[in-house]
Amino acid sequence: MSTVIKDIQTITTQPSGSRLIIVKIITSDPGLHGVGCATFTQRFNAVHTAIEKHLKPFLIGRDVSKIEEIWQMSMVNSYWRNGPVLNNAISGVDQALWDIKGKQANMPVYQLLGGKCREAAAVYGHAGGGTPQAVADDVQNFSEQGYHYIRVQMGGYGGHESQARKPEGSPDGAYFDPRAYMRSTLKMLEHVRSEIGDQVELLHDIHERLQPIDAVKFAKDVERFNLFFLEDPLAPEDLEWFEHIRQQCCTPIAMGELFNNPREWQPLIEGKLIDFIRMHISQMGGITPARSVALFANMYGLRTAWHGPGDTSPVGHAANLHLDLWAPNFGVQEWCRFSELVYEMFPGTPEVRNGYMYPNKQPGLGIDVNEELAAEYPCQDTVEHWTQTRLPDGSPARP
Ligand code: MG
Repeated sequence: MSTVIKDIQTITTQPSGSRLIIVKIITSDPGLHGVGCATFTQRFNAVHTAIEKHLKPFLIGRDVSKIEEIWQMSMVNSYWRNGPVLNNAISGVDQALWDIKGKQANMPVYQLLGGKCREAAAVYGHAGGGTPQAVADDVQNFSEQGYHYIRVQMGGYGGHESQARKPEGSPDGAYFDPRAYMRSTLKMLEHVRSEIGDQVELLHDIHERLQPIDAVKFAKDVERFNLFFLEDPLAPEDLEWFEHIRQQCCTPIAMGELFNNPREWQPLIEGKLIDFIRMHISQMGGITPARSVALFANMYGLRTAWHGPGDTSPVGHAANLHLDLWAPNFGVQEWCRFSELVYEMFPGTPEVRNGYMYPNKQPGLGIDVNEELAAEYPCQDTVEHWTQTRLPDGSPARP
């Protein structure tokens, strides 16, 4: 008799800044369950409803072994597809089913994917600060902790918040000045390179905050700092501009955390217009689509750099790690350094030592959730401030 989905539970929790969503699938086999990440932190209630009201009634009673079939049918069952809410909900189910299959096989998920190409995944940490010297000092800290890849930002995304030039009567918001950001970031990179030399690999995230032509110029201007990659130079709405960046410089480009439709990554991969695919695994629908995109990208010489900040749950980081250990074209993994509380709440959260993320010996994803502890940190229904971004004249801008 086949093992079937007996129940699906949606666990929401907020141990620190980000609201996390975990799907737990209970099977008909006593004691056998799986967990998956469905975290869309800014719209967690919508994902919660999609799982509880739509996916759960659709999936109860289905054979847990049919991961691919369930993914395909879940994606088309709503007729309208590929949106962030439904993709995240489907990801929670998909990752939980991979976790279950690993437990049934008594193997880690990387074994099911094809086995390890490496013993651990190289990670990058986020160095930051208010001045070029503060950023250089933070890079030094990371370097002393064994990190070989380090992302550098000064004053957060878009640089220092600047309300100085806004017109009278302008609304509140997270103001930034794109042109000032370009000038100050170039100075910061210059200073950091002169302080730390060329041995450490530096990364930088534009966070799609520039006008397309300014992004082309910026990519060209940073070429001399020899970045490991420049992230999100353009918004998903401006994909045709990648060709102009390619024509102008050889700064390696990483892109993808906002993607949720295959038509967004397909032309960039086929055109070899970027160098690293960095989708948010739950945002694209889970391990099942990530596996196929990694192999597709491999055929065109692109590497992976899956999105891995604090708004990916520890379960999502475990999913990233299993893909990283297996993928022949792994590049680097983003890492956010979770607190002790998170390690306690999610037993099996991957550990990082000397700049490498290591798996544990458990089957499946090797991670679980302490539900009692998670319940002590319920999600807060606050309105996001940092995504209320505005240009110097007060007009709304992409965060
Ligand atoms: Mg980013």
